[in-house]
Amino acid sequence: MHTYRIAAIPGDGIGKEVVPAALEVLDAVAALHGGIAFRYDAFPWSCDYYLAHGKMMPDDGLRTLRDYDAIFLGAVGDPARVPDHVSLWGLLIAIRREFEQAINLRPAKLFRGLESPLRRPNDFDFVVVRENSEGEYSEIGGRIHKGADELAVQSAIFTRRGTEQAIRYAFELAGKRRGRVTSATKSNGIVHSMPFWDQVFREVGAEHPDIAASSAHVDALAAFLVTKPETFDVIVGSNLFGDILTDIGAAIMGGIGIAPAANLNVNGKYPSMFEPVHGSAPEIAGLGIANPIGQIWTAKLMLDHLGHQDMGAHLLQVVEDVTEAGLKTRDLGGSAPTLEVSREIVRRLQR
Ligand code: ATP
Ligand code: MG
Repeated sequence: MHTYRIAAIPGDGIGKEVVPAALEVLDAVAALHGGIAFRYDAFPWSCDYYLAHGKMMPDDGLRTLRDYDAIFLGAVGDPARVPDHVSLWGLLIAIRREFEQAINLRPAKLFRGLESPLRRPNDFDFVVVRENSEGEYSEIGGRIHKGADELAVQSAIFTRRGTEQAIRYAFELAGKRRGRVTSATKSNGIVHSMPFWDQVFREVGAEHPDIAASSAHVDALAAFLVTKPETFDVIVGSNLFGDILTDIGAAIMGGIGIAPAANLNVNGKYPSMFEPVHGSAPEIAGLGIANPIGQIWTAKLMLDHLGHQDMGAHLLQVVEDVTEAGLKTRDLGGSAPTLEVSREIVRRLQR
């Protein structure tokens, strides 16, 4: 029996509801398949913690997290009481940077029983691999001049290391899926970084002759995700492009409440962090009606990452069985509370 040590950080808002719900599910899958177990240590690091202590986590927080097999996080943010830049930089971004989580993985798939806003949705099932540490989201730049001449300059940073790492991960992932990679580019308008990105994509592609590789301009790709999402397998994009494309992915699946994500450390030195796409949703926090599927699917990504793809696949099947049976939270058009959905998943795993 192998016991994984998981640092659980429910965080703020609905994170406090969906994380415990997802952990019950995770325990049920582990018990069903056997051979592994999870030990969770819960950390109360959040905006409440900030208001009490003046920081989002203790000074040795990162040191503490480093020894875990994975970090399972709910949501961070309580913008009415703590500015977003304080809460995000004080916890989420600090963890992502310290643990070199350079890949953001975001799957999108049409679930049985869920309604997509697309008129004629074919069965789509794709994953966006987003570069997570550099690119357009840089602090380099500033404003110069005043008045009519005022201008802002924003630099994007594309290192060979960061670019290659994301692209290589995408090719390797495609090898385990349906063997196709699409690169999001914009080299017709962005004349330095994107041709570089394209070059790295061609070079890494040459090392993977078995994978069908193609590039598309990100604007066209965004449209294709609406008109023919079923044609994609793995999509790789820069930090900004990946961010935008994954919101489309969440939307066409039927909502942000089910969208999962992983922040992966791929050099094996530090733990990865598993956190759904959605935020703390303060307006429904405490009501017990949040959709737990985003957090549960995120737990599936954690299982995959820990090497238990069979359990992950089974878990997702059961989640789909439950949506197909019509048990849904309010955001998906149903009326089931959080725990009714998660416990039905647990029940089905137990029988
Ligand atoms: P952040 O700034 O942290 O990304 P946000 O305010 O931009 O967060 P969310 O907190 O994700 O976005 O909320 C966006 C909308 O989706 C809100 O109306 C919220 O109530 C809803 N929502 C998000 N997650 C869920 C969920 N798990 N279940 C139900 N509704 C959700
Ligand atoms: Mg917000």
